Amino acid sequence: MTAVHVPGTPVIEDGRLVSTSPASGAEVGRLPVATEADVLATVERARAAGGWWAGLGFTGRRERLLRWRSRIAHRMEELAELTHAEGGKPLGDAVVEILTALEHIDWAARNARRVLGPRRVRSRLILAEFTGHLEYQPYGVVGVIGPWNYPVFTPIGSAGYALAAGNAVVFKPSEYTPAVGQWLVDCFAEVVPEQPVLTAVHGLGDVGAALCRSGVAKVAFTGSTATAKKVMAACAESLTPVLLEAGGKDALIVDADADLDAAAEACVWGALTNAGQTCIGIERVYAVDQVFDAFVEKVVTKAGRLTVGPDDADIGPITMPSQLDVIRRHIDDAVARGGRAVLGGPDAVQPPYVHPTVLVDVPEDSAAVREETFGPTLTVTRVRHVDEAVERANSLPYGLGGAVFGRERAVAVARRLRSGMASINSTLTFAGMSTLPFGGVGDSGFGRIHGEDGLREFGRAKAITRRRARSLLPAMTFERTPADVARLVKVAKLRYGRGR
Ligand code: NDP
Repeated sequence: MTAVHVPGTPVIEDGRLVSTSPASGAEVGRLPVATEADVLATVERARAAGGWWAGLGFTGRRERLLRWRSRIAHRMEELAELTHAEGGKPLGDAVVEILTALEHIDWAARNARRVLGPRRVRSRLILAEFTGHLEYQPYGVVGVIGPWNYPVFTPIGSAGYALAAGNAVVFKPSEYTPAVGQWLVDCFAEVVPEQPVLTAVHGLGDVGAALCRSGVAKVAFTGSTATAKKVMAACAESLTPVLLEAGGKDALIVDADADLDAAAEACVWGALTNAGQTCIGIERVYAVDQVFDAFVEKVVTKAGRLTVGPDDADIGPITMPSQLDVIRRHIDDAVARGGRAVLGGPDAVQPPYVHPTVLVDVPEDSAAVREETFGPTLTVTRVRHVDEAVERANSLPYGLGGAVFGRERAVAVARRLRSGMASINSTLTFAGMSTLPFGGVGDSGFGRIHGEDGLREFGRAKAITRRRARSLLPAMTFERTPADVARLVKVAKLRYGRGR
């Protein structure tokens, strides 16, 4: 029988975490809650599994990971349905999310050996008689803590790369999306039945905290900045390294030579997809004076056409009910302080839905401009020139992604954005490009997932030197003579002493 709870709010019943649809309240998942002892035992088992997994080598792991990818691909409609049911995300958005995750598993599996595998490194004149050897060895067990807004894409961005690098992974999904997390783990176990290489521990924040203190060799966290600080503090106790993918307040800059139709289309998508619950979602726009009015009109027309509701609407429910209060506060505050809603407004919040809202003339120091809203809302601000746009875009502690529409100055502007990523003439696209690193600066965290940097994040650099001949310039020995030292001085001056 299907139990009905407060829609979307997970509850614990008889030691089980029960997740529910934010649209209907129908039960979606029921998973056992891990105690601290369970977390420790899971990590212990994962440690042994990690040794076995590392022993498969790059070729063995690649084969398993590609089979995992294929299984997810074959069953992607089922996973999309589950993602839709548990988080409320429209099916089309769930499909795009899964497709992006598949691309990341594929790339990580195929490129792990090239990026992390053993290689010889050339020496220079100093230590010329040595060869260098470099490889990136797995940490052992990596703890992955994930959010609810992209319950497939975000954990795979960490776990997929960590697994490709030879680590076992213990994954703590968000309490809002445990069923999706367990689905990924179960699917992996079908292709790796021998050992618990990828496992999940379920529960509330305390389970994540227990994972940080469980003796894992690294923690990869994706979630809010506030929790990222707690994770880092917990990991500091044991010097456990952390990768932090935290929140954002990404800006889109529209320059005078932008294609305004394309800019409006990408802006509406980047701001409103997944009901705006996207870490790299566009939450602020800075448009130069010449194009401001035309741009706002196009955005309002396109956003005004979107449908809101369950099932096949463009915009689904807000996944985490408590977020509705944040969204309402940001809209109310913006309007109270002189902002104008040119679409939506205070009445747009109709739980569990929020209708698209576009705000203009909002003061720069208001919550709607400075804090992560995580809803289908957008502020559009008029600026005199593109330099002012960059200055305003860069004025927040967050620095995750961003976007620029324009021609002549677009690359220069993208480079000047204080963020880990930027897209030109599109929004959010860097997240899907498996060859590029993903991560932020400042309050948006540090470390990188995806791409070569994302693979290296999950391997420890191991440097080895090997002597292959007698030293012509003996330096690191007590057997060197005064004449050797004199020759070292001569070489140092010849090689490094020019260009004073
Ligand atoms: P939270 O920070 O609330 O939670 C993230 C995860 O941490 C959850 O699994 C949560 O468990 C767990 N957790 C909570 N407390 C602790 C603790 N003390 N120690 C360890 N783990 C803990 O974030 P949300 O789930 O609300 O996700 C939304 C946020 O994630 C937004 O700020 C968004 O910008 C950001 N995000 C960043 C991305 C990036 O790549 N930079 C990508 C996607 C989202 P529980 O759910 O059980 O409380």
